Amino acid sequence: MIKSISQKKLKNIPAVSRILNESTIVESGLPKSVLIAAIKQTLDEIREKIGSNPMYDNEFSLPVIVKTVLLKANKICSPNLVRVINATGVIIHTNLGRSPMADEAIDAVVDIASNYSNLEYNLYEGTRGSRHSHIEGMLCEFTGAEAAVAVNNNAAAVLLAVNTFAKDRDVLISRGQLVEIGGAFRIPDVIACSGAHMVEVGTTNKTRIEDYESAISPRTSLLLKVHTSNYQILGFTSQPSLEELVSLGNNYNIPVMEDLGSGSIIDLKLPGTKSEPTAKEIISAGADMVTFSGDKLLGGPQAGIIAGRKDFIEKIKKNPLSRAMRIDKMTLAAMWATLNIYRDFRNAVKKIPILNMLLLDKAVLDKRINRLKRKIGRLDTKAFKIRIENGFSKPGGGALPLTEIPTKLFCLVPEKMSANAMEKYLRQYDPPVIVRLDNECILMDMRTVKDSEIPLLAEAVSAMSALYQ
Ligand SMILES: *Cc1c(COP(=O)(O)O)cnc(C)c1O
Repeated sequence: MIKSISQKKLKNIPAVSRILNESTIVESGLPKSVLIAAIKQTLDEIREKIGSNPMYDNEFSLPVIVKTVLLKANKICSPNLVRVINATGVIIHTNLGRSPMADEAIDAVVDIASNYSNLEYNLYEGTRGSRHSHIEGMLCEFTGAEAAVAVNNNAAAVLLAVNTFAKDRDVLISRGQLVEIGGAFRIPDVIACSGAHMVEVGTTNKTRIEDYESAISPRTSLLLKVHTSNYQILGFTSQPSLEELVSLGNNYNIPVMEDLGSGSIIDLKLPGTKSEPTAKEIISAGADMVTFSGDKLLGGPQAGIIAGRKDFIEKIKKNPLSRAMRIDKMTLAAMWATLNIYRDFRNAVKKIPILNMLLLDKAVLDKRINRLKRKIGRLDTKAFKIRIENGFSKPGGGALPLTEIPTKLFCLVPEKMSANAMEKYLRQYDPPVIVRLDNECILMDMRTVKDSEIPLLAEAVSAMSALYQ
């Protein structure tokens, strides 16, 4: 009996072609392949539900099916990678795309991506040119190096340089610098991938220059220093200075490289913090090569830069791996435009978004908070209460690990709605709002929220408040 009910219901499910010809489906303008996939998925789900519960009657009428199909089809056709509002106060947020780029960089990308370009064509000579030539001069200008090359990211830069100089040979590195940077980048793994043999010297907290010297053998072909950009060992610690390593390298004729990681090319002079070393300082201390990221403190596109001695950089460019890791034309365009902004420091602080956020005036934060409060207006909700608090923003991106920058926080204190439910609601809003959850409170840091995003933020908070009127 029950079996026959479900069989009858299954028979009554409309055919794919019937649904496909419904006027709202036809008028949706969505690709037929997508609509068919969405219909099949919807019908499968209904069949499954009837199978497990023969009395199942919901979502069964044609209009309901059509609505479900359209929802599914629209979802299939909407991008998965979307812009979000970063209200976390973490400026170079690794999970949220690191550095947003300057307008000039974006314009350059659009121009080069939508047209042909002289990417590998020398316009003066009418001959084949090199893609590296477009930014090498400027990279040298800012690092003080003789030559430079940019690749896909800094992990690639380290891998490529170590492979070029130490494949099947030894690279010396201090035990205090065997760092992991965000998930997949661990210095020992990168060295292993490069085909070099890693020789660890010293201990976790103390490494002396003598430890390096006694580890040197005829197989040694690179001394690697890694900037511990995302943590610091405090207390009874020491590492040889770069100058000591350089002089050791010179004595034994072994190249010295520093992986700087976060890659500032100017001294930001953040109040109350020790400055990050700049690429220029590393080169002028005598390192043969320095590597750093394009989208951390530099605030440009994802890239890795190797700057250093001309003969070394030439050797790197000739390594077949460098072809596999080469930078694309859009990144080159964005990198040139970003570096060009740095020619005037005041300009850079205004135009490079992450520098602007790092050095933002307190008055701007106050203004954003007040504007947000005004836009939200009187809150008639039992969901949460609003409180303004002082707090701290973080540079993020594995840069300036101990730096906390005073900021203003817009806090939502739970009443009827839990902090977890609020976090989820905001995260699933369109556009998603990513917040900090701290001490059972929702914290929104205005430092990483753009002025133009304040209305959207107000809309999200208001919509959430309406859930518990
Ligand atoms: C971030 C970082 C890397 C990796 O750079 P990506 O640009 O993420 O590939 C390598 N070394 C150090 C010291 C870093 O801080």
